[in-house]
Amino acid sequence: MQLYNKLSAEERAQLIDEAGKDRLTISFYQYHHIGNPQVFRDHLFIEWDKIDVLGRTYVAKEGINAQISIPADRFNEFKAHLDSIVFLKDIRLNVAIEQDNKSFLKLKVKVRDKIVADGLNDDLFDVTNKGVHLDAEAFNKMLEDPNTICVDMRNHYESEIGHFDGAITPDVDTFRDSLDIIEADLKDHKEDKNLLMYCTGGIRCEKASAYYKYKGFQNVFQLEGGIIEYTRQVNEKGIENKFKGKNFVFDHRKSERISDDVISNCHQCGEACDTHVNCANEACHLLFIQCDSCKEKMDECCSDACKEINALSYEEQKELRKGKSNSNKIFKKGRSEVLKFKK
Ligand SMILES: [Zn+2]
Ligand SMILES: [Zn+2]
Repeated sequence: MQLYNKLSAEERAQLIDEAGKDRLTISFYQYHHIGNPQVFRDHLFIEWDKIDVLGRTYVAKEGINAQISIPADRFNEFKAHLDSIVFLKDIRLNVAIEQDNKSFLKLKVKVRDKIVADGLNDDLFDVTNKGVHLDAEAFNKMLEDPNTICVDMRNHYESEIGHFDGAITPDVDTFRDSLDIIEADLKDHKEDKNLLMYCTGGIRCEKASAYYKYKGFQNVFQLEGGIIEYTRQVNEKGIENKFKGKNFVFDHRKSERISDDVISNCHQCGEACDTHVNCANEACHLLFIQCDSCKEKMDECCSDACKEINALSYEEQKELRKGKSNSNKIFKKGRSEVLKFKK
């Protein structure tokens, strides 16, 4: 039985083109104790492969976190499959605002220690004791309350291109870092202020809210379904949109535009821009913001050094990389001394 991908990304992209069918990009997560993640993982892979699901899913003893795309006309089959799993029955699915048929090109279902790398010792606190969930309307209302402190639970490169009006956006590389920084910043307001948090799809707030309650915060609230679900409700119900800019997402699309505001700038020339790219030099791959004219001038690279390497033939580049481990810039998202206009 085939339990892993056989097609390359290129072959997959070609298949999608040939099929000519629309795909839906969706995400969902659930914290739930899973006794044997490997068996569950194999089950998902077999069933999802049958209905042509693509994307990246993590399964762990603590639950499931899925970012996938499915053929639009097989949505009902997919939903029926989820409903056949007790703890996924009627789960809220976050459907992407901007569809892209090639948001994902492979089906990957992986067993991990955790569904989000949060760096927390979960034995310390009860993860089910989470904050109050708010819909878009209630979130807006609380945002206007002068007694509210709104915190963006995402990393610096995410909030840089878009965030809620008036939110605190910690300058952090990881979720774990932001937890400590926010706690230190707000330690005098554990009882008198509303701690209002949000993230991309809601999953990080599930953990964060339980963590802050454990740390003594009395009034903890979280945006249900994150920015993705907020935007859906704003569009559907005609509610005022208080999110400015783009929502960073973790697939080929890189972001979804939520409002017309461009709140960030090109890291190379400083012009208003909110388009993330990865440096074209395979050995670098640095994530940064680049405008169209810099893109052309720099051949899609982050620096002159990368531009030079990228101009070499594939064989020459391979020779250059020999014996060297991968550049750690891959993990330094949006952080490099070559980016003169990174704030
Ligand atoms: Zn530029
Ligand atoms: Zn580079």
